[in-house]
Amino acid sequence: MSLEGKAAIVTGSTSGIGKAIAEAFAAQRCNVMLNGFGDKAAIEAQRAELARKCGVKVEYNGADMTRPTEIAGLVAKTRTAFGSVDILVNNAGIQHVAPIENFPPEKWDAIIAINLSATFHAIHHALPIMKAGKWGRIINIASTHGLVASAQKVAYVAAKHGIVGLTKVVGMECADTGVTCNAICPGWVLTPLVQAQIEARAREQGIPVEQARRNLLAEKQPQLQFTTPEQIAGLALFLASDTASNMQGAQLVSDGGWTAQ
Ligand code: NAD
Repeated sequence: MSLEGKAAIVTGSTSGIGKAIAEAFAAQRCNVMLNGFGDKAAIEAQRAELARKCGVKVEYNGADMTRPTEIAGLVAKTRTAFGSVDILVNNAGIQHVAPIENFPPEKWDAIIAINLSATFHAIHHALPIMKAGKWGRIINIASTHGLVASAQKVAYVAAKHGIVGLTKVVGMECADTGVTCNAICPGWVLTPLVQAQIEARAREQGIPVEQARRNLLAEKQPQLQFTTPEQIAGLALFLASDTASNMQGAQLVSDGGWTAQ
């Protein structure tokens, strides 16, 4: 596969799954626009190291994915920097765990904005550029929670089901344009987003963090292994490849058997 000279935006790529996806695309000689929050110096070090290691252009745009105008700016600045937008990975996401009666409305709004609406806004701006170039790959990082529910995750589950539906619609609208739109549905991946949940469970249940980690896996994933960020990045590369050119509006699941049950 050659992605040489192509331009990718990976939202939420300063951490976890997005960071691994950005690294995988850069390693295939794709120019990459990083996005996400974090320490300024650490992000600059990440940007410079990726550019040096892979010999590609790597830029950073700190657009807040709750803000549609900043998302428009992210797409426009990527086009200015790299000459095009060929690949869009909608990955930025947050979580909040609470029963619906106690679920803070502002957390609902933030999760819907970042995990769902941001994907609409980014595609809205990037798709015309991809269609004009007659090639594009839109890869939405959904979740097993786009397919099944868990208690206490009302906003996240609603947003991820929304992502799966949005992916199907965009896939239909892209048919025969050279652009594909597909989703990846990971089960548990050990990133800061999940580590925070494990530590909260350990505190609530008064058990060691290691035991909380084992319990978390045992509840959902028969393989008792976390999917790794690198494995999700491999699936994203696959969706960007010619092998996947006839996949449209689909969901790729990597969840250790979670949704097979
Ligand atoms: P993470 O916390 O490690 O990374 C999240 C990224 O999103 C960070 O770069 C963060 O700065 C960025 N971000 C958060 N709010 C933002 C905002 N308002 N604007 C811009 N960037 C913002 O989490 P992760 O586990 O790598 O999650 C990445 C994606 O994968 C999310 O969409 C998540 O729902 C999904 N996912 C994760 C798992 C898992 O088990 N970790 C499973 C299924 C799906």
